[in-house]
Amino acid sequence: MNAAKAKRRFKTSPMETPTVKKKKTKTGVTRKAKGSKKSIQASGTREWATENVNFCHGCSNACIYCYARHMAVTRFHRMSHDNWQNEVVREKEVRKKRKRIVGQVMVPSTHDITPESIDAVETVLLKLLEAGNDVLIVSKPQLECIKRLCNSLQPYKDQILFRFTIGFLRERTRRFWEPNAPTYKERLNCLRMAYELGFQTSVSAEPLLEPWRAKELVDGLRPYISHSLWIGKLNCLRTQTRWLYPDGHPEIDRLEEWQTDQKVREVYETLKDDPLVRFKDSYKKVLGLTRPTTAGLDI
Ligand code: SF4
Repeated sequence: MNAAKAKRRFKTSPMETPTVKKKKTKTGVTRKAKGSKKSIQASGTREWATENVNFCHGCSNACIYCYARHMAVTRFHRMSHDNWQNEVVREKEVRKKRKRIVGQVMVPSTHDITPESIDAVETVLLKLLEAGNDVLIVSKPQLECIKRLCNSLQPYKDQILFRFTIGFLRERTRRFWEPNAPTYKERLNCLRMAYELGFQTSVSAEPLLEPWRAKELVDGLRPYISHSLWIGKLNCLRTQTRWLYPDGHPEIDRLEEWQTDQKVREVYETLKDDPLVRFKDSYKKVLGLTRPTTAGLDI
């Protein structure tokens, strides 16, 4: 499938432009100014989707910067950091009937697709697809899980866009930031497999964990991407890693140096003319690029 065709299928049609939610939420749609009804911006997962669907607590990938972990453990004290790695499927959510939702639906956003959750993931995805939804499947992908999904979801290929998170090249980087998540090689193999089986594919390099190698990262993944590659900062880097490194760490210091406006512009300069690359809100804000005010446009 070529990039133009993939983009067409996954662009929200004018007839279906979703109504933007007006309340301030954890989901990424925020008011720009108090009292303003129109000036809102779609950030976070809302840049990609009108709705997120989740049905697990915890995630065995144990990324040290995880926003979902930060909210569940540090902010709302719903579980301990140790418990975060023990995934619990919320069966009630899995059993729910699924309806047609206007716009692109993201699955999942606060956990991942792992051997422990794959039965539930497959069940929920089939219900969403049978209801006619366009589904964005986001994961730090494991080969056995993606193989299974490519097989069982094959009849719904045109409703699916895979987005695999790959923000690094070095194994050392993965071990520090995303200790239990798959290696670069495994993620690349998943991307390649999905692409060669004719699924629409994209990559999220958010967070971009090796900004100094951004072009190399993009060029290595390019042959297996039909849709887009997103670049984004690691937001709230210190706040979300303090639980493990209260006094900091050289890896954290190094990445923080690359979150400055000047470094963001450096990365942008190397990729700005690449038609495959899109920049998340964290970059758009710094660069003065147009920020979408409607959720789920994925542009
Ligand atoms: S894969 Fe996502 S949900 Fe899981 S620990 Fe990492 S950032 Fe959190």
